[in-house]
Amino acid sequence: MALTITNECTYCGACEPECPVNAISAGDDVYQIDPAACTQCEGYAENPACVSVCPAECIVSA
Ligand code: SF4
Ligand code: SF4
Repeated sequence: MALTITNECTYCGACEPECPVNAISAGDDVYQIDPAACTQCEGYAENPACVSVCPAECIVSA
């Protein structure tokens, strides 16, 4: 199961460089996560790296 970014995203860009599998990209209005690429950081970090850095707390389970 992948994570998803809600409309609360402020487009700050903090999450994109944190993703170990480059699943995050800038969408038209908010950043977005490719559900086929997101591994939930399994084997990389105990908690999803993107969630840890998001100041808007807008990255949630899909
Ligand atoms: S949970 Fe990990 S793999 Fe998935 S989008 Fe966030 S940083 Fe990338
Ligand atoms: S860190 Fe959060 S607020 Fe910033 S771009 Fe990513 S999802 Fe949006």
